[in-house]
Amino acid sequence: MYNTIVIGAGIAGAVAARQLAEKGGRRVLVLEQRDHIGGNCYDKKDTYGVLIHEYGPHIFHTNDEGVYEYLSRFTDWYLYPQGHQVVANVGGTLIPIPFNLNTLHMVYEEKKAKELEQKLIAAYGEGSRVPIMELKKSDDPDIQQIAQYVYENVFLRYTMKQWGQKPEEISPEVTGRVPVLISRDNRYFQDKYQGVPLDGFAPMFERMLDYENIEVALGVKASERLTITEDGILFDGEPFDGEVIFTGALDELFDCRYGRLPYRSLRFDFEHLEQNDYQQGHSVVNYTVSEDFTRITEFQYLTGQKDCDGTTIVREYPFAYSGAEGEIPYYAILNADNEALYEKYRQLTAGLTGFYLLGRLAEYKYYNMDAMARKALELAERIMEKKG
Ligand code: UDP
Repeated sequence: MYNTIVIGAGIAGAVAARQLAEKGGRRVLVLEQRDHIGGNCYDKKDTYGVLIHEYGPHIFHTNDEGVYEYLSRFTDWYLYPQGHQVVANVGGTLIPIPFNLNTLHMVYEEKKAKELEQKLIAAYGEGSRVPIMELKKSDDPDIQQIAQYVYENVFLRYTMKQWGQKPEEISPEVTGRVPVLISRDNRYFQDKYQGVPLDGFAPMFERMLDYENIEVALGVKASERLTITEDGILFDGEPFDGEVIFTGALDELFDCRYGRLPYRSLRFDFEHLEQNDYQQGHSVVNYTVSEDFTRITEFQYLTGQKDCDGTTIVREYPFAYSGAEGEIPYYAILNADNEALYEKYRQLTAGLTGFYLLGRLAEYKYYNMDAMARKALELAERIMEKKG
């Protein structure tokens, strides 16, 4: 009855499902354990009518024209006129993040800042992006001084909160997402397109999955209908020889038989205020040297919603995922041990034909939305090439 089963209706699953149904002509069943589609991109109005991102702030940003074009079939966009801009609250002063030449000029007095600017440009080139862990390796004492400032005031405390570890203890890829910018660019991302779907993420996913060959079953755990053994795949008890695209946590698929894959989770503390504006001046303020939460997001500035009564903000409190009911694994913790454990689980799927792992959870990776959509399109293409 179905040619393809997709587990999970987040961006990975939704894009793959649509592409295989539409371009590949397959009958696709999407099994989603939550009671809504959209994965962690899901947004909805809270009880006060403010559009919120239930699983934390999601900003779409990309340089990938193909992905932008593809998603634009399902949504118009609210693109930020100045890009997404973030500041850090450092002892009450707000400084642009990523740390850039504007930040440098706020932190040092003019003459010193000019000298340092010239040094940075000479060392790394104008417009370059230097990860903090790279900058820290400089043997120039002046650059070391900047690196130390950035390390202490931007990265150390925030990273301790977010990961429970110091910047040097986590994968350099992670802090490398927010490199020091040798430019005057105050935007958080340097991508051409930055924004959110005009009427929200959820409607974009609705339109993507609203297709004649796609059936979505909500509130269904994959294990209720699918049995994956090393020898093969059973669907409703019968051998299934179509494709299965799995976007869930791989350890859980195998009952965590080798132990749990470590993740970081978050508690979101939403607060509605009976005032028009929280007056933090930005959609997102990072707390890099104080507080127990990492950042405060004010949704009306993230979503562009104009008709809010009052305003809703969210504070994010990271913690170690334990697998307890209700906890959500948001971030894979990338390191050699965890990747080796992931690989053991992946090996359990190596002998399965037509079984594909896709997404942050299933691949144990730190993907942005656009990269995820690109991977989903590529996987759909590969599958179609193989089987037509
Ligand atoms: N980071 C930091 N201070 C900041 C912003 C980021 O230390 O003000 C570090 C922190 O380790 C974080 C990582 O850089 O986990 C990546 O940040 P990003 O904003 O990309 O994280 P996400 O939005 O995906 O949670």
